[in-house]
Amino acid sequence: MGTLEGRTAVITGGTAGIGLATARRFVAEGAHVLITGRRAGALDEAVAELGPSATGVRGDAADPAHLAALLTAVRERGRGLDVLFTNAGGGTHTPFGQVSPDEVDDVLTRNLSAPYLTVQTLAPALNEHASIVLMSSIAATAGLPGLGVYSAAKAGARALARTLAVELAGRGVRVNAVSPGYIDTSIDPDVREFVRAGAATIPLARVGRPEEVAAAVLFLASDDASYITGSDLFVDGGRNQV
Ligand code: NAP
Repeated sequence: MGTLEGRTAVITGGTAGIGLATARRFVAEGAHVLITGRRAGALDEAVAELGPSATGVRGDAADPAHLAALLTAVRERGRGLDVLFTNAGGGTHTPFGQVSPDEVDDVLTRNLSAPYLTVQTLAPALNEHASIVLMSSIAATAGLPGLGVYSAAKAGARALARTLAVELAGRGVRVNAVSPGYIDTSIDPDVREFVRAGAATIPLARVGRPEEVAAAVLFLASDDASYITGSDLFVDGGRNQV
């Protein structure tokens, strides 16, 4: 029997990278996953690959109308929600002095407002003993040039995990953050170069694989982590630990 047998999970941004790797792992462990993403083609492809244990709900994780549709999709399954992984997000690499007001808003919206609103909207559907995993990053606890707004947003997501861990504890819901280091996901050559260059600062001397983050998220989502809440699990090859 799989670790998540019979459970229902939502993964925002589940069509590529860490989100898709986590969706694959959750399905392999017996869950039904509802995945989201903005691009219809990518969503259709991911759902086709994942098979009958996956449902796609297209939209932007910061859009309240999309989040309401996601809640409806969860309710239509009729089993409540056991796992919520707010993975959708991403950043821009812009020197501090060149960041525009729109870029500040965009990066904060994608990485902080979106997870906040996602949890707030889906909270009524959470089952007792559900698990929420909020995507943070090593950027929240390291100074990385050009990532100021992104780092602040991810630090906000980590802080949110602490507050929600307390606010939702009465319902038996656990809330944790996951903080990946340099993970090889992007198809953008500039981002790939940034991630690969980061390997020089990592004790394990390599970038991580999305599947290695998925394994950590699975642990936090599962009953194996039944006494863990409010924490931040780093999956960074030791980058921020030594
Ligand atoms: P990725 O390969 O670019 O995949 C991002 C996924 O999220 C895609 O499915 C994308 O689909 C979806 N997405 C992006 N923005 C969205 C939005 N506003 N609403 C709904 N879906 C959205 O990214 P990744 O590298 O796996 O990163 C996933 C998360 O991990 C992000 O929050 C990122 O900040 C964080 N992270 C990544 C690393 C790393 O080194 N890769 C390290 C630390 C933290 P659409 O484009 O179709 O929407």
